[in-house]
Amino acid sequence: DEAGAQYVHIDVMDGMFVPSISFGMPVIKSIRDCSDRIFDVHLMIEKPERYVEEFAACGADLVNFHLEATEDVEGCIEKIHATGKAGITIKPATPAEAVEPYLELVDMVLVMTVEPGFGGQKLIPECLDKVQVIRKMINDKGLSIDLEVDGGINLDNVAFAMEKGANVIVAGSAVFKDDIAANAKAFLNRLQ
Ligand code: ZN
Repeated sequence: DEAGAQYVHIDVMDGMFVPSISFGMPVIKSIRDCSDRIFDVHLMIEKPERYVEEFAACGADLVNFHLEATEDVEGCIEKIHATGKAGITIKPATPAEAVEPYLELVDMVLVMTVEPGFGGQKLIPECLDKVQVIRKMINDKGLSIDLEVDGGINLDNVAFAMEKGANVIVAGSAVFKDDIAANAKAFLNRLQ
């Protein structure tokens, strides 16, 4: 926050959609007062339609959920839009085309560049090809939605991710080590 990051990206894991368990609404609510940044909540949970309203209400500005986790994509988008911005997310094995029917309905597409569930993994380069395809879809449709990448992004590959068309960058392990503010600043310098 103090280094100037624009978003706080919050990974929610349920131990079902992904093996890990992280945290839920009470923790997000408790940190809401600590930051004015955009709270970008990334739900890695089964059947997000059960909880999207509660996550949106606990302080999220943006709620991302996985296409693979629900059969009611439009319902989830609608529920999130009652209070905030909505994003759809795809795992590495899901093709870029899966997001196309929903592009007009959402504020963001989040492309996972590692398998979701664990930090510290290496970026899968093929996922950035999907970013390029989705950026083209967004531009061809004349939309102005955000395209976010998440997983294995570091100072060496962030420029490549942006060249492919990403405009929101998530960095976890590359920032949360040693001097966190200095790491965040190094990223922000790279983005300008
Ligand atoms: Zn995430």
